[in-house]
Amino acid sequence: MRYADYVGNMARLAVEIANGDAPGEERGEMLRRHRVAEPDAEPDAEALAALVPALRAAVEAAAQGGPLEPVNVLLERYPPVIRVDGHDGPGTAHMHFAPNGEDPVTWLGRNCAAALAHVLCGDPAVTLGRCQAVGCGRFYVDDSRNRTRRFCSNACASRTTVAAYRARRKAAG
Ligand SMILES: [Zn+2]
Ligand SMILES: [Zn+2]
Repeated sequence: MRYADYVGNMARLAVEIANGDAPGEERGEMLRRHRVAEPDAEPDAEALAALVPALRAAVEAAAQGGPLEPVNVLLERYPPVIRVDGHDGPGTAHMHFAPNGEDPVTWLGRNCAAALAHVLCGDPAVTLGRCQAVGCGRFYVDDSRNRTRRFCSNACASRTTVAAYRARRKAAG
């Protein structure tokens, strides 16, 4: 796995948690691959809830390019611990930001803090954004080629297009 992919995957998990989404397949897969949880085991809901506000503030800061403080708060609370691992076979060595086998919420906190620090410092591999549809405000990872994404989903994009069309018609009388 390329380093940038790992940072990207962790940024995706950070966004998922910050949005309050149900855990996607990727999260279970990441936890399993790093022996953080037994298959299908989920982080303790209460411990995860304690991570969410700090994580959400850090995701917001990373998405809008600052302030720096929320990311530093998350780093302080869940300090990354750098390890190298090649769990996918020879030649797959890559950096981890938490030891394998750690309790899931601490593992997520450390890795998300490290990933968001990369994003905030302008790592070109990952860009975060916040949906511009009225009343949405969900975060997303922008993996479009020119980093031009503005909405969290197709639903928000088309809702906005329809609203703009109606507004133009109304203005035209
Ligand atoms: Zn790994
Ligand atoms: Zn949206």
